[in-house]
Amino acid sequence: MGYARRDGELCADAVPLATIAAGVGTPAYVYAWSVVRDRYRCLEAALDGVDHRVCYAVKANSNLAILARLGELGAGYDIVSGGELERVLRAGGDPGRVVFSGVGKSLADIDFGIKAGIDAFNVESASELGRLEARARLLGRRARVSIRVNPDVDADTHPYIATGLKESKFGVPPGQAVELYRRAFASAHLDVAGIDCHIGSQIADIEPFRMALTALLELVDALGRDGIVLDHIDIGGGFGITYEDEPALDLDALGDVLRTTLGRRTLQLRVEPGRYLVADAGILLTRVEYLKPAPASGYRNFAVVDAAMNDLVRPALYQARHAVEPVVDGDGAGGRWDVVGPVCETGDFLALDRELELNEGDLLAIRTAGAYGFVQSSNYNTRPRVAEVLVDGDEFAVVRKRETVADLLRLESAR
Ligand SMILES: *Cc1c(COP(=O)(O)O)cnc(C)c1O
Repeated sequence: MGYARRDGELCADAVPLATIAAGVGTPAYVYAWSVVRDRYRCLEAALDGVDHRVCYAVKANSNLAILARLGELGAGYDIVSGGELERVLRAGGDPGRVVFSGVGKSLADIDFGIKAGIDAFNVESASELGRLEARARLLGRRARVSIRVNPDVDADTHPYIATGLKESKFGVPPGQAVELYRRAFASAHLDVAGIDCHIGSQIADIEPFRMALTALLELVDALGRDGIVLDHIDIGGGFGITYEDEPALDLDALGDVLRTTLGRRTLQLRVEPGRYLVADAGILLTRVEYLKPAPASGYRNFAVVDAAMNDLVRPALYQARHAVEPVVDGDGAGGRWDVVGPVCETGDFLALDRELELNEGDLLAIRTAGAYGFVQSSNYNTRPRVAEVLVDGDEFAVVRKRETVADLLRLESAR
């Protein structure tokens, strides 16, 4: 299951990608459910024997079908906006399994979270704690609080996705966290629930997680001596995966280290994986519109495809490398190709300098695009966002229709 070639054709589970392209058109995001389910099970196995909860980071891929199915597997959710909470509720997710992260929760976000009865607010500043308490008082409710601690751990990842360093905007330092817990503990409108951190994304080493957990546990133990008892400890997400040839995080080894580091404490361990669960499940399916082979030496070979940076911005934004595979075994012009889109930016590329045999009209799969793919897409160049398709076994369904230009213009007026 997952992505494999059968008779020279790339398939998602049992469905040839060419069949999806014929039925739905291109570009399209395709998600193979079997891959998400397998990842979820691997994670469950790695954490076996520890009281734990997986809170899926909704921002990685927030399609309702993915959210609904993960909920059925037992996942909770880590959200970063009121919009994501709306999605979780629409997908039938349990608000009692939702944690709410983010440095800039608005009044509306906080009220929505309190009224929906989410499990915990991952509070990121003293001001946010004050706002949360004020809103809970006003609404006559109690809000459950976790303080996001910034453990100042270097996760050795791309600077845009490192979030656990002193200079990052996220969380509060351990010393300040103690003050915030005292305030929350003394409040008639707040309940102390847990402690959390999230040190970055695409982390391949175990050591940063061990250091972060150790830093959080020191706080937990210190708070315990003051009679402030937490029910969970959340080490965030950021589990690294393989896009091309990078080493992936060894989850079983991580599980062992977490188990050992937690020792005999009775806290529930929480993790907030996004990318790990969904990245490999997705591809961006695109078609070659034009080939522009280098006219002379010093020029490059361009394959202009119908998907662009507005559909998948990771290569332009993070210098990300996604593997590119022909959907049907190639018999076209061999060579090293830059796979570029129609958008008017030199940064509009999906892959550079790839050995491919191409004909105009060929279908390509941009691999490992299930996380931070569709969710980061935009309408730049007035390009409607593409369709999303979910494959399960030998069936597929459009789980988000392709936008039309009319959809884009609906909210606009000329005067
Ligand atoms: C983005 C994010 C995650 C998920 O990160 P991945 O690298 O996709 O696992 C988890 N928790 C928080 C608070 C986040 O902001």
